[in-house]
Amino acid sequence: MRERAEKALALAQAAGAEALCVRSRANRFYLTAFHGSAGTALVTAAGLFLLVDFRYAEAAREAAKESGAEVREVDRPRYGQQLKDLVRAAGVRRLAFEAERETFAGWQALAEALAPEVELVPVRGLVEELRRTKSEAEIALMREAGRVTVEAFGEVLGRVRPGMSERELAFALEGEMQRRGAEGAAYPTIVASGPRGSRPHAEPSERAIEAGDLVTVDCGARWRGYCADLTRTFAVGRPSDRQREIHAAVQAAFRAAAGELRPGARAADVDRRARAELEAFGLADRFGHGLGHGVGLEVHERPSLGRESQDVLALGDVVTVEPGVYLPGFGGVRIEDTFWLGPEGPVALTPAPRDLIIL
Ligand code: ZN
Repeated sequence: MRERAEKALALAQAAGAEALCVRSRANRFYLTAFHGSAGTALVTAAGLFLLVDFRYAEAAREAAKESGAEVREVDRPRYGQQLKDLVRAAGVRRLAFEAERETFAGWQALAEALAPEVELVPVRGLVEELRRTKSEAEIALMREAGRVTVEAFGEVLGRVRPGMSERELAFALEGEMQRRGAEGAAYPTIVASGPRGSRPHAEPSERAIEAGDLVTVDCGARWRGYCADLTRTFAVGRPSDRQREIHAAVQAAFRAAAGELRPGARAADVDRRARAELEAFGLADRFGHGLGHGVGLEVHERPSLGRESQDVLALGDVVTVEPGVYLPGFGGVRIEDTFWLGPEGPVALTPAPRDLIIL
């Protein structure tokens, strides 16, 4: 059984269970190398099992060559009974399940299928904790995700003209990521032009980009399952003094916070450092979200870099730094990179220039 499954089993045991049932996509992939959208990974002392139905059997067997999982093809109507047989054969009386990932209906069906012999034990963030520390092999994939993102962004930037809609820009960007071999966008691309820039998570609209706009683009490719996260704001035509000043403030906040990234740093302190910088420009109250988050198989994962975070940064973390300033009626600026906390210090996985881009 692979090291990841062994570690997951030890954590489930520490939580008072004898086995762990994983049905969420990223966690299931992490343990079994199986990409499909449905299936159950079962981690027991008797081994790592992957239960899938007919639709995924072939893909699961291929993944199993990598992960060492034992594949069981299940018949959907008899899924509950087959799961129960497997769990009982492994001598499991208490089965841990992902409390934050199961739906209520999913939990009900599971509980019904296993009752009364097997009791369900809720666990939180168990596989997520393992996923937090990235291996060198994972970093190699995340570097590729970042490289493709930066290249696609640079390519599309060269095509932006007044009159291009936000949606056209997003579509072109996602196409360029795929053309370079990415599976697609890791999350829906954000394009926020002109006054729409004051919405941190704006969905691309039909608005045409105009001369004089600041345009914020937040994008990331998915590469072999792993995500990148990059944000830049560019000016269309000569920026005003106010636009330059706001960009300079966000850039200063970015630089100050990125300079605090190191194993042992308290995430809340790194966030505070960015806010202190914006305070000097009188803009701290216009930075209404956390400084950053972990990235990996999902675009938002542990740790969290926010004011309320209790997390302490550690070697092997991959985190974003993304200060922003949002002014209703005016627009906004955000700068974001994904960093790996490696043995030689922080490494930007999305290496693109951070000065104000002027088109
Ligand atoms: Zn982000």
